[in-house]
Amino acid sequence: MVDERSAGAVLFIHAGQEPEYLLLNYTAGHWDFPKGNIELGETEHEAAAREIQEETGITDVEFLAGFEQSITYRYRKARRLVEKEVVLFLAKTNTRHVTISHEHIGYAWKKYDDATRLLTYRNAKDLLAAARDHLRSR
Ligand code: ATP
Repeated sequence: MVDERSAGAVLFIHAGQEPEYLLLNYTAGHWDFPKGNIELGETEHEAAAREIQEETGITDVEFLAGFEQSITYRYRKARRLVEKEVVLFLAKTNTRHVTISHEHIGYAWKKYDDATRLLTYRNAKDLLAAARDHLRSR
């Protein structure tokens, strides 16, 4: 049973030839995509858009049809083991300027190779590869 559900996006900007992906450095130390808890009554897309806005200040977000993947993991919150699912979309922005919130200690726009190195978790790296493949196949 899933205890927590979050939504977010692999957010990219087309600067030159290659897309650059936005990664956030969480206060816990890991690097991951913008994401956050789905609130009651929100769709997954609404939650992802709201979290992107809250966490980065970016409001021009265009979700690409046909990409939706979930990752699941477990982590310890105090003494409790939490089962978490995160649904991630693929979204495009034209805004490079980022204003992070108190939930993060840094951000970076990175091309694929650097982004995959910077991401902390295997499942996030795999998801980025799937997002890149999706972009290439369009
Ligand atoms: P949210 O952004 O959804 O509000 P959060 O900031 O509360 O989430 P998470 O990013 O889910 O927290 O991190 C909670 C814990 O889970 C941290 O200890 C983190 O290291 C770990 N964690 C985060 N992502 C993964 C993952 N993909 N695989 C395994 N553990 C992860």
